[in-house]
Amino acid sequence: MQYVSTRGHAATPSFCEILLGGLAPDGGLYLPADYPQVSLEELDRWRALSYADLAFEVLKKFATDIPAADLHALTRKTYTAEVYRNTRAGEDAAAITPLRTLEKNGAGALMLQSLSNGPTLAFKDMAMQLLGNLFEYALAKDGAALNILGATSGDTGSAAEYAMRGKHGIRVFMLSPHRKMSAFQTAQMFSLQDPNIFNIAVEGVFDDCQDIVKAVSNDLAYKAAQKIGTVNSINWARVVAQVVYYFRGYLSATTSAVAGQKVSFTVPSGNFGNICAGHIARMMGLPIDKLVAATNENDVLDEFFRTGVYRVRKSAETYHTSSPSMDISKASNFERFVFDLLDRDSNRVRALFDKVETDGGFDLSGRAGSDGDEFERVVKYGFASGKSTHQDRIDTIREVQDEYGITIDTHTADGIKVARENMAPGVPMIVLETALAAKFNETILEALGTDAERPPGFEALEELPQRFEVMPADAARIKAYIAAHTGL
Ligand SMILES: *Cc1c(COP(=O)(O)O)cnc(C)c1O
Repeated sequence: MQYVSTRGHAATPSFCEILLGGLAPDGGLYLPADYPQVSLEELDRWRALSYADLAFEVLKKFATDIPAADLHALTRKTYTAEVYRNTRAGEDAAAITPLRTLEKNGAGALMLQSLSNGPTLAFKDMAMQLLGNLFEYALAKDGAALNILGATSGDTGSAAEYAMRGKHGIRVFMLSPHRKMSAFQTAQMFSLQDPNIFNIAVEGVFDDCQDIVKAVSNDLAYKAAQKIGTVNSINWARVVAQVVYYFRGYLSATTSAVAGQKVSFTVPSGNFGNICAGHIARMMGLPIDKLVAATNENDVLDEFFRTGVYRVRKSAETYHTSSPSMDISKASNFERFVFDLLDRDSNRVRALFDKVETDGGFDLSGRAGSDGDEFERVVKYGFASGKSTHQDRIDTIREVQDEYGITIDTHTADGIKVARENMAPGVPMIVLETALAAKFNETILEALGTDAERPPGFEALEELPQRFEVMPADAARIKAYIAAHTGL
């Protein structure tokens, strides 16, 4: 399988060649030259597979340059009940992403797929745990080293650190805004004592952290000398690992693909990484009726799917909300969907995303003066959207607690609220649970008046000793710190 850049760069690298990289050299994102196809018969044969074996079947279609036996060993090492053990009462850890039916009535069935049972209690573990094992495997083959540099507002950083801790040849340098993460998130990252994990608390906001990562990535000589890699949301291996749980969700909710059964998914969305995996699953032939993007007050994606206008937000227009992992000003994976929407016309994709840089967005509504009329085809792709507010989250957390006796987190609450607006009779609606409530306890306390339950082992998290370095938001200082600790 070869990969192409959304902006048309001539090279067509393999899976392993893009595993450790970020953007394509032309600033585009990589996608397969052709989506591998899964027939309905093949899909039905996958019903009996364990999650790890299903992951192998899906991934081997994309990672054709990894020997099958090696890939199979990697998925079996990654997707175990021990790693994804933070289940709710009544959930089977062996299922990895257990699916539960919340309600079934004339309006259709509403279901919740747990993706947050991994070590950091958010869905980012689903891909990051695999990435950690893939990196270690790829590096071991040629004895190389990798220094991962990242910026986090909370969930990505901890998922990356728990996936890479103790891995041979890998170090993680994670920048986070000093004193801006929740107490739980801070403790989760800073309590790691593994010598290959470096937490840098930057005196600034998340954007300062991200700017420093960009500055380092743009210094190609430094990047090469220090073997810097990234694991941000555009990483292709992360997206492809996420494709698997759409297949699992479909298979858990249905009995026969050949008989024409479909499902819909509602996905709490920020950078469009999670739902992009759903789009890819559908392009492979998974019978998905609707893919619904749920946003919070930061509604860049909802605006596009309602109007055809993509308008990135300025920092001052980006709200700090109670579903903070979706507080984004632009959706970094969105370009992958736009590439397909425009029939893979890379010249137009490049022009549109150049326009994002100069004018802050583009318009595909087809109105006079717009940049195109492809918006009407969004429907063909089955996308829909909705948004929610802080009050909606509070109300939804209460309702779900009252009606079904389970506590959901704030991001999942955005999903449930929007899912209920998009139900169709006869089509199960699966909401992806993207975090456990314990991670965002402040809002749970506000909604329910009680603390969210913590999985075993997390009770005294905040009391553990913490290990981190406070540094000014100064790229030169941080580059020097990394260089002094890479051993290169
Ligand atoms: C990262 C994250 C999201 C958003 O996912 P995207 O792939 O960026 O769309 C939603 N909820 C939680 C809890 C997250 O950590």
